Amino acid sequence: MFVNIHSHSHQNEGIYILNSLDFSDKNYYFSLGIHPAESQNLNFNADIFEKQTTHLNCIAIGECGLDKNISIPLEQQIALFKKQIDISEKMQLPVIIHCVRAWNEILEIKKELKRKQPWIYHGFRKSNLTESILKSGCYISIGTAIIQDQKLQQSIQHIPLEKLFLETDNDTTYSIQEVYESVARLKNISIDELQTQILKNFELVFKKVKLHGTL
Ligand SMILES: [Zn+2]
Repeated sequence: MFVNIHSHSHQNEGIYILNSLDFSDKNYYFSLGIHPAESQNLNFNADIFEKQTTHLNCIAIGECGLDKNISIPLEQQIALFKKQIDISEKMQLPVIIHCVRAWNEILEIKKELKRKQPWIYHGFRKSNLTESILKSGCYISIGTAIIQDQKLQQSIQHIPLEKLFLETDNDTTYSIQEVYESVARLKNISIDELQTQILKNFELVFKKVKLHGTL
């Protein structure tokens, strides 16, 4: 079984967490979040948001976070991010983090808020930050970049399987199966072993799935 922790579309068999506002597809899980790029002129209504997260297939908050490549002031992004973190705690849902050049800020927020829900950095590529992220107790999700990115291929050796997730995000060139194949090869384990461990991580982190049964 392939688990795709963050995707914008479903390609083949497996467990998918779609980054989607389309609740109509009963066959897939989804995560609910406001991307920092969407934070401008947004009238965020925490009550409505919270209510939407009660949908049975909504098993995570996100992607949300901070992005220094966009022109929206960081303060504004932080305020929205923190609101979503609060809801994640209240609703007991893990968070899928979007982070661009704001690693320190997010690590600081993590320390400051002392939240208990698991945080997963999605689309991770910053090899030099592996250690500090793992130290903070967060999970790391690796995407299709692993197929080409040599630095990332090296740093995956330092990510314990128990802290790892895999995803395709909005890349449709490669499938989740190809991401698994690449990681299994680099970690020198079988696809079976990798699938078993990632599924274990999934069940551990996404508690709502266990509570309501798998789709
Ligand atoms: Zn995405």
